[in-house]
Amino acid sequence: PLVLGIETSCDETGIGIVRGRTLLSNTIASSMDEHARYGGVVPEVAARAHLEALQPSIEAALAESGVALADIDAVAVTSGPGLAGALMVGVGAAKALAVSLERPLYAVNHLVGHIAADILDDDAEPLEYPTVALLVSGGHTSLLLVRDLTTDVELLGETMDDAAGEAFDKVARLLGLPYPGGPEIDRAAASGDPTAIAFPRGLSRASDMAKHRYDFSFSGLKTAVARWVEQREAAGEPVPVADVAASFREAVVDVLVTKALAACRDHGVPRLLLGGGVIANRRLRDTALERGAAEGVTVRIPPLSLCTDNGAMIAALASELIMSGRQPSTLAFGADSTLPVTEIQVAESS
Ligand code: ATP
Ligand code: MG
Ligand code: FE
Repeated sequence: PLVLGIETSCDETGIGIVRGRTLLSNTIASSMDEHARYGGVVPEVAARAHLEALQPSIEAALAESGVALADIDAVAVTSGPGLAGALMVGVGAAKALAVSLERPLYAVNHLVGHIAADILDDDAEPLEYPTVALLVSGGHTSLLLVRDLTTDVELLGETMDDAAGEAFDKVARLLGLPYPGGPEIDRAAASGDPTAIAFPRGLSRASDMAKHRYDFSFSGLKTAVARWVEQREAAGEPVPVADVAASFREAVVDVLVTKALAACRDHGVPRLLLGGGVIANRRLRDTALERGAAEGVTVRIPPLSLCTDNGAMIAALASELIMSGRQPSTLAFGADSTLPVTEIQVAESS
């Protein structure tokens, strides 16, 4: 099927067009710059930016793929989780498009969409099940067990407080680096010593592991970095930004990879799929690949344009649902900011 996907859960307006498992276009407009001076995504600003970007993005995606709107077989949209106002803009647009074109509409889960992105990666072998997936971005840090993309996705664990990308953004801010902090920390860390400062690994002690084996916590780490920097400044000593950045990054990467590989081991699953914008982090990719190889786990990393929020992954998920015979969604659904990952499609018609 020829599917047009709309993604507006955070600050990216993503329009993607896929045919079956083939990517035709993936247009992404980000309002990131508008949020920079606030140090994080401002929901109202994001929603208005989506409204402005949607129409031109749809036109650009159609032009890029050489497809006419009338040729689209189905419309797909993220119904959650994400920012309520931002989601609402995409949901409204998708309903309008589906109704006016008289085409079926598939309302799908954003997190499962991140996993579906893997299917569009031409260079990779087909995704095998079950697979463990680690999704890390500015809004989420989730460890999933995927038995089947269209029917069975289980949440193993998630962050109890800040998302990993959010931690990068907050620590960058307290080091005086601009937003978004991930790339800035990465750059600063390049010349630093990752073993210079022993920052805490959240929820990693034996007592925590009993209850929160697959959960994450990054707010304690952020506070530890803040304390360390404050003490330096109070003592009138310069802050070694490169060492702090490298040590902080190491703490985040270590916990992410350790817990993801523990999930693989525990479930006897020799496959780990990475997704989300934080995957841009070189250290995270390298550590996952290295430690994965040492444990016999194949680590899959789709191209970055498919890892950050995009519409193609939403279209890909709908395409899979259609190919497995699922019915479209009714119009009786709205934006659901806390949609659980187990709800792969919402409001399927009976
Ligand atoms: P969502 O959570 O809904 O997926 P988002 O817009 O917050 O949306 P992404 O766009 O996928 O998430 O990723 C942005 C996040 O990734 C930001 O927090 C940014 O700091 C982080 N990031 C980007 N590059 C890097 C990097 N090289 N290292 C670490 N973090 C990074
Ligand atoms: Mg983003
Ligand atoms: Fe996302």
